[in-house]
Amino acid sequence: MKDFKVVQIPAMEDNYFYLIHDRVSGKTAAIDPGQSAPIEQVLAAKGWKLDLILLTHHHLDHVGGVVDLKKVHRCEVVGSEFDKKRLPFIDRALREGDEVHLGEAIARVLDVPGHTLGHIAYYFEANEALFCGDTLFALGCGRLFEGTAEMLWKSLQKIAALPPETLIFCAHEYTAANARFALSIDDHNSALLERAREVESLRKQGRPTVPSSLGEELLTNPFLRVEEGAFRKSLQMEGKSSAEAFAEVRRWKDHFHG
Ligand code: ZN
Ligand code: FE
Repeated sequence: MKDFKVVQIPAMEDNYFYLIHDRVSGKTAAIDPGQSAPIEQVLAAKGWKLDLILLTHHHLDHVGGVVDLKKVHRCEVVGSEFDKKRLPFIDRALREGDEVHLGEAIARVLDVPGHTLGHIAYYFEANEALFCGDTLFALGCGRLFEGTAEMLWKSLQKIAALPPETLIFCAHEYTAANARFALSIDDHNSALLERAREVESLRKQGRPTVPSSLGEELLTNPFLRVEEGAFRKSLQMEGKSSAEAFAEVRRWKDHFHG
């Protein structure tokens, strides 16, 4: 992470926009700028100009600032090839495995459909950072707006296979609500109990709970833990596949009011 700075920008109701800055080249990218003003404020404070915008998916809370930012900074905008009709302002359409360079920093594109069909994530391997939009959240995962549970499960598995040190920069602060749901089905999990306390204390202080590490998610995120036999058994889903168990847990979460 040495030459790579991430600035997390809380905005709107519960979104996080991000700026990433490559110290070697001085180049800066925005990720999922749902509005332009919060981005402009940070750029001005840091004395940075915007070179690039990375988009994970087409929802307005992730793209609402693009047109204004592009007008002012004349920056390049990249997003999913699949969504290029829904992202008319992109200059470059990306597919799985494509690379995006920000000076010395390199992101690899992962296809992670499920929340939307064209959802992608940006993996900065050398910097151990993943920007995954609304796919994996701290202690949760995105809702199924367009894809199937099977699809999102596969996408989450792709993320789960990354190194456990990877920091998960997701696009929303949903962790406290996610923790309540997680505890409702996994209250014997000591790592989860401890994390839920930590989340509560951070939120009381108005501090972000994002990013988390993938390793933490693997131990505490119920959507990833369905892979684990003992947990699946405790949910009385021994006979089900991980994907089926995932689908079921996703449905429970949709109907959970905790
Ligand atoms: Zn979304
Ligand atoms: Fe969102």
